Amino acid sequence: MQTKPFFMLALCLALAILLPGCSSTSHRLGSKAIGIPSSSATMESLLMQPGPVELESINSADWSGPLSGLVNLSSPAAIEAGLRNREEPIQVYAHVLKHPRRGNFLVDTGIAQIVNDDPQKAGLSWLLVKSMRKESLVLRKSTAAILKDLPGKLSGVFLTHLHFDHISGMPDIPDDVPLYVGRSESTDKYWLQVFTQGSANRLLHGKPQLQEWDFQPDPQGRLEGLIDVFEDGSVFAISVPGHTAGSTAYLVRTTKGPVLLTGDTSHTRWGWDHSVEPGAFTHYQGRNRQSLLQLKNLVSRYPNITVLVGHQP
Ligand SMILES: [Zn+2]
Repeated sequence: MQTKPFFMLALCLALAILLPGCSSTSHRLGSKAIGIPSSSATMESLLMQPGPVELESINSADWSGPLSGLVNLSSPAAIEAGLRNREEPIQVYAHVLKHPRRGNFLVDTGIAQIVNDDPQKAGLSWLLVKSMRKESLVLRKSTAAILKDLPGKLSGVFLTHLHFDHISGMPDIPDDVPLYVGRSESTDKYWLQVFTQGSANRLLHGKPQLQEWDFQPDPQGRLEGLIDVFEDGSVFAISVPGHTAGSTAYLVRTTKGPVLLTGDTSHTRWGWDHSVEPGAFTHYQGRNRQSLLQLKNLVSRYPNITVLVGHQP
């Protein structure tokens, strides 16, 4: 007799707590990041010349996830292709950027040894460890091993966003290394983050204040906003909100030509090839689709750009 009203009350309470959501982390936000606002015209004028950066993309771990999280299976293209939910093989990458004058940088962090060996000791909550299904994760190269192979110290980490699979290398990153994120990435409130904020806080514990890219509107309106990171046209941070509020892609002018790191604006190669945004893992699907289409338009204008999606080769 009492069960139904009690259940309704519990449900209402849970909704009242969850709906306003919470930020991805309460880690401190510091001064704005390095670099200067740029334009798509400036960036595009440089894309036919090789740049000075050496880029190495390293598969830190093999993993898998539900296709329904990685691709919007309700999109017309996915329905037409007959895609059904299944376990999809993915990888967790760290990208090493070596700039001849500015030093060594990472885009995202890979997976630290301790996150593989004892994720709860590394700071991940019991719930997060359960939901990540660690049994399907196979560490290939820990963040510490990646850093050990660098020709010198690490000068900074450019984050595509703050989801835990992108900051799981933090336990191996020295505490004095600057961390850069997109606008509102750490402050935007989203309901699921009620369950992940504690883990993100613990992974970032002891690290410097996060520095936000100072994106300004792209004068040509082709992209949301761009930062010329080293003020020499070698690396551009590109605002691609949607997957998360502050999702950021990076265009790296390497010695072998331009490379676009999309971050999780597209997790999968299929999603990129068919212009379909991610599924349940994305916070704001419409915005994500818009950002994905902006990146696709850039690459259709400059097919010499090599595209590396978030979690597949
Ligand atoms: Zn991811």
